[in-house]
Amino acid sequence: MNTKEETLLKEKKQIESIDNESNKSLSDKKDYDLSWLKGTSADQTVKTNQINKSAPNIKTDFSDPVYKKLSRINGKINSMSIDNLVKNLKELKIETTGKKEVLMRRLKNFHKEKALNKTVETDYDYVCVIDFEATCRENTLDFPHEIIEFPIVLVNMKTLAIEKHFQSYCKPRLNPKLTAFCKSLTGITQDQVDKAEEFPNVLNTVSDWFLTHNLGETNSFAIATDGPWDMQKFLRMQCDTSNVEYPAWAKEWIDVRKLFSNWFGVRRCGILKMLDYIGFEFEGNQHCGLDDSRNIARILLRLASDGCKIRTNAKIKHSDQEN
Ligand code: AMP
Ligand code: MG
Repeated sequence: MNTKEETLLKEKKQIESIDNESNKSLSDKKDYDLSWLKGTSADQTVKTNQINKSAPNIKTDFSDPVYKKLSRINGKINSMSIDNLVKNLKELKIETTGKKEVLMRRLKNFHKEKALNKTVETDYDYVCVIDFEATCRENTLDFPHEIIEFPIVLVNMKTLAIEKHFQSYCKPRLNPKLTAFCKSLTGITQDQVDKAEEFPNVLNTVSDWFLTHNLGETNSFAIATDGPWDMQKFLRMQCDTSNVEYPAWAKEWIDVRKLFSNWFGVRRCGILKMLDYIGFEFEGNQHCGLDDSRNIARILLRLASDGCKIRTNAKIKHSDQEN
């Protein structure tokens, strides 16, 4: 049994033991005349328990003293100054970067995880962060983008560490000469794309790379990107241009920007703003696909260790798939 199953079993047992307690007290009362309860709130409790006797008593779960304790801790954390939050986090050897709301959430989550004995919440062994770079022209929205850099950052969701990476440039077909704007934006040189394989071959190499790491085999995995564009726009356009089937592994993904915004309750924003919010700085060069992917991975790891469930939250639109 793995740690997650053990935790779930433990929680289930806790709920069952609490349920048994309430059922026990109910059966204890069975031999007594309960008519005096009629019309009182106690009567309502007995009726509710009778109805729910076989169903898991979810409400009872929250009556566990552990939730009262957590509620008291949360109250204390809400009234803490930023200095106090940092001091508490430091003492617990927890990351102290980020805005006040981030620190509060981190400290609350630490106590919640400790009390409930929880591990990182995700359904995947690995997450592959991908941030494509593509051909482009300045101020041109309807440009026929082609992928010129295919990076993957492999994140181990058990150890919460970046384990490996993959990077390949791709030779574009429709616009083989990169614009000066594109070269300056991405840092990718004409020579790098001239020497690279075309996209279909790179995609095959990527499939082999997934297999080498048993991804989709013994290791479950999901893709993560910053926003919808990498899959919905760049990969879809590229598959159309190259006349290859849209890969099954890219049909749904973790939109880190969306996850971040929902978790912290802030507006959706780009990599720089998300990093700033959690007190990080961009590492490497912006618009280098591999560096962008690494920084998205850092955000994802911060979300995971702060308690956010890492799950797919976006999928390719059917109308686009059929195009
Ligand atoms: P990013 O992930 O932000 O580095 O952007 C991915 C791709 O979007 C780039 O490789 C370009 O093809 C395109 N792109 C990004 N920013 C711009 C821009 N300001 N103007 C035109 N294209 C852009
Ligand atoms: Mg990028």
